Amino acid sequence: MNQLGNYIHGRLTNGNSKESLSVYDPSTGEEISKLINSNLLDFEEAINSSKKVFLEWSQTTPLKRSRIISKYKELIEKNIEEIAKMVSKEHGKTLDDAKGSVTRGLEVVEFACGIPHLLKGEFSQNVGTNIDSWSVRQPLGICAGITPFNFPAMVPMWMFPIAIACGNTFILKPSEKDPSCSIKLAELFSEAGLPDGVFNVLNGDKNVVNLILESKDISSISFVGSTPVAKYIYEKSAKNLKRVQALGGAKNHLVVMPDANIDQAVDGIIGAAYGSAGERCMAVSVAVAVGNIADELVEKIYDKAQNLKVAPWTDTESDMGPLISKEHLGKVRDYIDLGIKEGANIIADGRNCKLQGYENGYFIGPTLFDNVTDKMKIYKEEIFGPVLSVVRSNNYEEALKLVNNHEFGNGTSIYTSDGEVSRHFTTNSRIGMVGINVPIPVPMAFHSFGGWKSSIFGDHAMHGIEGVRFYTKLKTVTSRWPKSINPGPEFKMPTN
Ligand code: NAD
Repeated sequence: MNQLGNYIHGRLTNGNSKESLSVYDPSTGEEISKLINSNLLDFEEAINSSKKVFLEWSQTTPLKRSRIISKYKELIEKNIEEIAKMVSKEHGKTLDDAKGSVTRGLEVVEFACGIPHLLKGEFSQNVGTNIDSWSVRQPLGICAGITPFNFPAMVPMWMFPIAIACGNTFILKPSEKDPSCSIKLAELFSEAGLPDGVFNVLNGDKNVVNLILESKDISSISFVGSTPVAKYIYEKSAKNLKRVQALGGAKNHLVVMPDANIDQAVDGIIGAAYGSAGERCMAVSVAVAVGNIADELVEKIYDKAQNLKVAPWTDTESDMGPLISKEHLGKVRDYIDLGIKEGANIIADGRNCKLQGYENGYFIGPTLFDNVTDKMKIYKEEIFGPVLSVVRSNNYEEALKLVNNHEFGNGTSIYTSDGEVSRHFTTNSRIGMVGINVPIPVPMAFHSFGGWKSSIFGDHAMHGIEGVRFYTKLKTVTSRWPKSINPGPEFKMPTN
């Protein structure tokens, strides 16, 4: 059995804990690795390593730091196939999709190469007579990241390249379900010349998360995962006086207007609802059919969904792989049962999906519900599987209300050929990331990623300038070099 430990101070370690967690191949249901469930001693090792190197790393010039990051970028490019395979094997998503996700992470590394420009701050000459003032952004210290299973390479890469480029050290606690690529990413960073201890990977479950949240040595927490855990992380981090950004779950609506190009909308919906088996925080899980297009829309989605190939990632023709775990498969099946009980019309039922040779894999087929209402649980809750709900609305105003009244506010999209409607939608939707005639409006690395409402807790989104702000604190300096005449003490507030 393959044993996975931690990556601390530039080397792989088996750690101290005797407890382990099982990692499965979701296509076969087989246990493929034993992962260390780190304990207090392992945690202290990671902290001591990060502490040892922080001062030197924070004082390394931004340009030298960004040169190491440029080298890292090259190494990721060289190893992208291997990293993507690690993602596919433990997560189950298709290899092309895995490669795409690593590329989106790589783009954050590219962004971090330009960090000297972003740390410059502001300068004002003569804020008072012969007095100058300037600001700098300085690193926080030891930053920690806690990440979900669905993007095991990309989501950590939203965090650590920027934190490290800004002069921090970083401890990553990856998802225990697919941890291998994090270790590979850390090894490559060492190969690029990153000093030992700047990037440590500490594996385990919620117990190690609690050690991170309670530690006085950790300055900030970046979290991505489900909303209940995001809330917990936010509250506990704030209680322990840490800076925190905690991104949660989603229920993304795609609104199709009667004047939309319906075939484009259907293609957009199919990819965004069923790609990665719906296990994306930007997946479309609700299609809102406005006016008289609903019947045609449902029929066309059904036709295309029937032709999707559900298969393991090793099959190059696969459109979607399995879910992450047996428990999650059970949960998604329960939601489908519930949708039927709640009175939604099931148009395509993925529960009977069986693959020869992969009977123990966690596969489920594309599922489509029509006539879903906002009172149903399958509408209100995040299912995180290939289950699409079609809600019919009479007009645009009703559709917008649905989008805005939902608890989650991660992403949304509208398909229309009317510029006025699209402008109204972008202005008035209470959602963090909005698309016009695009299904998954995921911002590029030089913009920032984050939702609204219960999809985020904390003030900063991930990467882009928001990332730089999150991982640095502002210092403003006021400076005068007076001649030897001493004007004596002043007792009033200085003014110009
Ligand atoms: P999760 O919340 O179960 O786990 C995320 C991380 O938190 C893991 O590292 C896990 O070990 C840790 N964790 C789990 N339970 C914990 C607890 N009780 N206390 C402390 N730590 C705990 O999420 P997941 O199932 O790995 O990922 C899927 C979820 O992530 C979905 O809800 C999805 O929408 C969300 N997600 C959101 C975004 C976004 O940008 N908003 C991106 C990706 C995924």
